[in-house]
Amino acid sequence: PSAIKDIVLELPETRWSDIGGQQGVKQKLKEAVEWPLRHPEVFQRLGGQPRKGLLLYGPPGCSKTLTAKALATEAGLNFIAVKGPELLNKYVGESERAVRELFRKARAASPSIIFFDEIDALGLNREGEGHGGGGNSTGVLTALLNEMDGIEELGNVMILAATNKPEVIDPALLRPGRLDYILYVGPPDLSSRIDILNIKFEKMTLCDDVDIRVLAEKTDGYSGADLVKICDEAVLAAMREDLQIENVKWRHFEEALQGVKSVITFEMVRRY
Ligand code: ATP
Repeated sequence: PSAIKDIVLELPETRWSDIGGQQGVKQKLKEAVEWPLRHPEVFQRLGGQPRKGLLLYGPPGCSKTLTAKALATEAGLNFIAVKGPELLNKYVGESERAVRELFRKARAASPSIIFFDEIDALGLNREGEGHGGGGNSTGVLTALLNEMDGIEELGNVMILAATNKPEVIDPALLRPGRLDYILYVGPPDLSSRIDILNIKFEKMTLCDDVDIRVLAEKTDGYSGADLVKICDEAVLAAMREDLQIENVKWRHFEEALQGVKSVITFEMVRRY
């Protein structure tokens, strides 16, 4: 059995415009990844060294995965996503083989991105204390580091990783030439919340008593995922009231706000 059930090559359709706010993150990624790919001759002439590995960190539901997908779409890269815990396998040797297989596929599909979500799972318990996914994180980590160090010659494979817990990432992963470009993807401020709600509102049918600004003001501390959830709950509240209802009204958002609480805590927004 393979540690990763299927290594699936995705063609994500997420665009930068699907992500509300996060202007700084988008701009940095355009520069660090898109420019060298789009203008390789300028980049080489000026002596630039392309980024190989990036770490996105920040609280849950704040668009790390969306960002990884949008980067792939916009930069024209094939996308392979893997969750850190999936790489851990109780059969000794299997997980290492899965890592090699993953990079082999990524090279075959290059230019490509491998996106490691929950990469922190590989940093835990290097001493072999049981981990949820099986205890073999040292071997996996070593295999991963070997592959990363190899990619210099192996060309157009970028490594992107994401975590909510940067403090437990094995420092070996963050050394120069590995995940050495670290970006904070934080919770949305007021204007970003308006952006996110606008993106979601475009797909909804709303009564004109719904004031986007009021909703954005009431959702300080909510993640993008929370905002989307509130909108979806409001839709359900409207349907529950009357299946013939024409649109979603403010009272449905009020009801939804009761049910969806902000998940971002002070601890989570503390920067690395
Ligand atoms: P986790 O750490 O839980 O994996 P994440 O940071 O990777 O979270 P995403 O998976 O990118 O978060 O976001 C979850 C969902 O929340 C997205 O699919 C999207 O619907 C919504 N969302 C989050 N942030 C934004 C945003 N800035 N703009 C639009 N939608 C967003």
